[in-house]
Amino acid sequence: MTAGPDLPVDDSSPDEPLGPVPVLAVVGRPNVGKSTLVNRIIGRREAVVEDVPGVTRDRVSYDANWAGRAFTVVDTGGWDPDARGLAHMISTQAELAVQLADAVLFVVDATVGITDGDAAVVKILRASGKPVVLAANKVDDQRTETEAYGLWNLGLGEPFPVSALHGRGSGDMLDAVLAALPETPPETVGEVAGGPRRIAIVGRPNVGKSSLLNKLAGEERVVVDNAAGTTVDPVDELIELGGKTWRFIDTAGIRKRVKTASGHEYYASLRTSTAIDRAEVAVLVVDGGESLSEQDMRIIQTVRDAGRALVIAFNKWDLVDEERRYYLEREVERDLVQVQWAPRINITARTGWHVDRLVPALDKALAGWETRVGTGTLNNFLGRLVAEHPHPVRSGKQPKVLFGTQASTAPPMFILFTSGKLDASYERFIERRLREEFGFVGTPIVLQQRPRE
Ligand code: GDP
Ligand code: GDP
Repeated sequence: MTAGPDLPVDDSSPDEPLGPVPVLAVVGRPNVGKSTLVNRIIGRREAVVEDVPGVTRDRVSYDANWAGRAFTVVDTGGWDPDARGLAHMISTQAELAVQLADAVLFVVDATVGITDGDAAVVKILRASGKPVVLAANKVDDQRTETEAYGLWNLGLGEPFPVSALHGRGSGDMLDAVLAALPETPPETVGEVAGGPRRIAIVGRPNVGKSSLLNKLAGEERVVVDNAAGTTVDPVDELIELGGKTWRFIDTAGIRKRVKTASGHEYYASLRTSTAIDRAEVAVLVVDGGESLSEQDMRIIQTVRDAGRALVIAFNKWDLVDEERRYYLEREVERDLVQVQWAPRINITARTGWHVDRLVPALDKALAGWETRVGTGTLNNFLGRLVAEHPHPVRSGKQPKVLFGTQASTAPPMFILFTSGKLDASYERFIERRLREEFGFVGTPIVLQQRPRE
């Protein structure tokens, strides 16, 4: 079963990806001169400053180039439409910048000095560990320069006195920006796995979880982390499969001998969700001979809420005849639409039939879970998507995706900067297209909107 887009599929060949281009976020209070400075950085190829009040700019990101190096400048100002106050707006902005950028350009008005709003930003920036370049703006002459150096005490390193208006000092500041930006942004660096992969085998009673575990473990079972020695303590097992060691979470909760000790339904479900939380990927075992149940759906929801990768194993395949198979396929289509992306395998744990298909499915799901799409590639994709399938007009307005960034992996999380709030159906459309374009097999995707009104 493949994802069926309800909008026409773009089958034209994709544009040449821009390649990895690092991202610089510009942060600062209103009126410190961010827009003027962004104009200066991009060489005025596009007008950023709006003279007409109430006219919203329709973009937030700009291509920039300094000393032969390309980067993307993102103006994070003006994104918080609510009225929770200036301080809140600025710290939201700073948090966003830290999430999406490879380096931050923090702009302060040197003629005004440090305000409370600035102090809040400093705290966030310092805690983030992201490279920060401090621009002391509106240093139009030698005299103001002295005030700029007072900003050393922010603890953000050397302040660069600039005049966005006249261009004074902007070369030195841009040199510092280049030095702060990574040569290759993190997207190209593979995830470093820490220790064995953690797997939770979950499912209703009697679907064959312990049979599967026993088959997988064979003779080489190693029990680790047997905490206080009572039967209900979590016990993880290290099992070697396909040349790698895997950590199976809370196998005491799976194995028969302790089942009676933790058999109460409430404890069983608590145990399941704890195991899912501790795992990177969950294997939901279902009984192929029986219909999917409410309980299966609840477990799937728990996995999605926890943001874990998911593989679904249809066990007892020896009991699945032609007729049952017919109904099962329909159940899958009806009940598993929300997790069409999860790899599915059919197995017979009792005999070991197709149990060897579990590892490739786990590998796939974990790879999807940790996929990272570069900002340049993502925005090429979003640009095409928006051009070809614009958002429907809603009460005279047309919401639009302006810029996107993948803030994190495991699971993949995207932040979309928009004008107006996107419909849920359009959001699902974007998710489907993301999956078609970049894979994301076996993993939930989180989309966060940052609408600007
Ligand atoms: P933003 O709200 O941070 O984006 O600030 P703007 O770029 O819109 O600038 C706010 C005001 O400061 C405008 O009137 C600019 O002309 C002025 N301004 C910006 N940079 C400089 C500068 O380097 N020197 C002086 N004197 N004024 C500046
Ligand atoms: P758990 O409660 O999910 O751990 O399930 P068990 O592994 O204890 O299995 C429950 C019952 O299903 C046992 O009687 C198993 O022998 C049986 N069972 C497990 N796997 C299979 C299978 O692949 N085919 C068949 N026919 N029975 C199975």
